[in-house]
Amino acid sequence: MDLGTGGGLPGLVLAVRYPNVRWTLVDSVRKKVAAVRSFTEALDLTNVTVIHRRAEELAWETDHRGRYDGVVSRALASLATVMELSRSFLQDHGLLAVVKGPHVVDELSDAERARRLLRLEPLHRVNVPDSARPTVLVTMRAHGSPPRRYPRKVGVPAAAPLGGRPT
Ligand code: SAH
Repeated sequence: MDLGTGGGLPGLVLAVRYPNVRWTLVDSVRKKVAAVRSFTEALDLTNVTVIHRRAEELAWETDHRGRYDGVVSRALASLATVMELSRSFLQDHGLLAVVKGPHVVDELSDAERARRLLRLEPLHRVNVPDSARPTVLVTMRAHGSPPRRYPRKVGVPAAAPLGGRPT
């Protein structure tokens, strides 16, 4: 899953690069989803599904909760919020990969409580070489099935990040 795909990043690029993987691209803005659908058709991508929904709602649907091997996201929200929005899509041992900027070290410490509540194990923090802006890829592994109480109601994960300072 690419959560908060916007105009299709990184989901569309990944779908082209990894044609044998099925990709689900999710965004809450109808216009963006319509654009991404048209790109998918223009590119003839048969391995992509595009969904117009808030993560906080989609994560409670049985077809999606705990059903994904991995979630990627870029420029979606602060790390604690991304963790809460994405965790419930992951199955046991599923991977979360978040594209972040140089402030990720602060975000990681702010998100420490979220990480423990959501049962995400830190894996790697990699500086992405040759990127136009300093870019860091943060990866984590989910342990167990999705935690029962998360994500909270629409808007809450961003307004009151778990364990983080309110933004
Ligand atoms: N990943 C893209 C877009 C980043 S902008 C890129 O890197 O260019 C963040 C996107 O996340 C927006 O398109 C916004 O509509 C979407 N978004 C924000 N909160 C969301 C939520 N709770 N559920 C689904 N999509 C969300």
